[in-house]
This record gives sequence, C-alpha cells and structure tokens, in this order.
Amino acid sequence: MKALTEQVALVTGASSGIGEATAKKLASAGVKVGIAARRADRLHALKAEIEQQGGQAVVLEMDVADKASVERGVKKLIDAYGRIDIAFNNAGLMPLSNIDEFKTDEWDRMVDVNIKGVLNLSAAVLPQMIKQHSGHIVNTSSVAGRKVYGQGFAVYSATKFAVSAFTEGLRMEVGQKHNIRVTSIQPGATATELSQHTTSEEFSQMMAGFSSQVQFLSPSDIADTVLFAVSAPEHVNIAELFVMPTNQV
Ligand code: NDP
Repeated sequence: MKALTEQVALVTGASSGIGEATAKKLASAGVKVGIAARRADRLHALKAEIEQQGGQAVVLEMDVADKASVERGVKKLIDAYGRIDIAFNNAGLMPLSNIDEFKTDEWDRMVDVNIKGVLNLSAAVLPQMIKQHSGHIVNTSSVAGRKVYGQGFAVYSATKFAVSAFTEGLRMEVGQKHNIRVTSIQPGATATELSQHTTSEEFSQMMAGFSSQVQFLSPSDIADTVLFAVSAPEHVNIAELFVMPTNQV
C-alpha cells in the first residue's frame, strides 16, 4: 500500500461538517484531496486553507445526485493527480418530518443524495480503483442506518439502512476480487449543519432540544475515525465504525 503522502482522496460533502473536517485531516496527513460539493465558494475557501497548511487540494463542484456531474468531478481529479486511493461517500441530508406531512419532495431528495449519490460516486471511482488493484471506499451511514430512529426518521433511516447494506455488499464483492477495502462509518449525533435541512417545525425544535441534552461529537471526531480506517495495513479492512457520543443512548 502506498504511504498516505502518495495517496489521493475524493471527499464528498466537503463544504461543511464531517466532509470538511475529513478533507482537512487527510490533507494534513499528506493525502492530496479532491473536495466535492455544490457550494463552490466554500470549497475554494477550504482549498486555500488546506494549501496554507502545506496540503494539496482540487475543487470539484459536484452534485452527487447527477451522474454526469460526478463523472466530471472524478475525471478532473484523475487528470490532476493520476489516481484515486480513497473515496469518502459522505454527502447527505436529513430533513426530518412525519410521514403524514407527506413531504415527498424531501423524501425524493434523500433517496437521490443519500442513496443514489453513494452509488453514483462508487460507479465513477471503481473503474480506476480496479485498474490500480487497490483503493478504499468509505461510506457515511449513521446510527440511523443500524436502528430505526423513531418518529420523523423513517425515510432518512431507510436511506441509511440502504447505505449500510450496500457498503457490506460492496465489501464482499470488491475486497477479494479487486483488493479494494470498503468501510461503513456510522456516527451518532455530530455538530454540523445537518439538522438545518429540516423544514418541519416539530422536528427543528426536537433537534434543538436534543443538542442541549447530548454532548455532540465534533466533525473532527469522525474525521479521526476515517483516518484510522484508511491508515490500517492493506490486509486489514475496518468494515464498520460505530461512533457515538458517550451520553447518547
Ligand atoms: P452537513 O450538512 O454539514 O454536510 C452535508 C454535506 O453534504 C455538505 O457539504 C453539502 O454540500 C453536501 N451535499 C448535500 N447535498 C449534496 C449534493 N446533492 N451533492 C453534493 N454534495 C451535497 O452535515 P454532516 O457533515 O453531518 O453530514 C455528512 C454525512 O454524515 C451525511 O451523510 C449525514 O447523513 C451523515 N451523518 C451525520 C450525522 C450528524 O449527526 N451530523 C450522524 C450520522 C450520519 P453542498 O450543500 O455544498 O452541496
């Protein structure tokens, strides 16, 4: 396995939260990072920050729900650095609501970004990883991809169960055959912009109350776990990392 300083990563959802923290952590470990999201201004600011610390980054303006956009981003990264060693499938959204509010556009968006986005990026990076006979795909599932979280979480949990299932199936298919590692990261409550997508007043209030009861993880806590998984020796595939705030049930 190449040293981290010779590796190239693509991080989706790099414009905020877990993705941003992970891009910074990988870059400070010497990994060249492709930073992907839709908000290009944020990505340019992040690139400047990474470069100021001595790292290397390429901005990939990308909508993970759009296959052509994903393919363009992957091509740009390969054109820049010649390979892809790590793909962090992390972009996601969590607009909570009751099913009987019928916010079906939000359900569609979660399916498009949380599930199809993961499939789109996996399909776009795997040919390069197969050619290299090495690579590591890390997918952000959730505690809500292990247990159904209850009221408001039905569709979000369904998308994260899909991510968990796909991740394990992918691991079985590409590990032995192509020497590609696959990891599912399953965070509990983490202090990011995620709850801001919620348009339902009831669940906005619930999330605000929750954050006063639980000491949320920081995005950098999750970035540490990604770095741990990708730093393992090549014959070790950390298949799952379930990371919870100590005082979250
Ligand atoms: P943030 O809202 O801070 O980050 C979400 C990121 O996803 C943003 O960078 C956003 O960028 C990006 N994104 C959203 N839609 C798209 C899209 N269509 N195309 C490309 N990028 C997109 O939240 P988190 O950092 O918390 O979320 C990261 C992941 O962690 C998600 O998958 C989330 O489900 C998961 N997670 C979060 C937990 C938490 O408590 N925070 C717990 C468990 C899992 P932009 O808008 O610029 O496109």
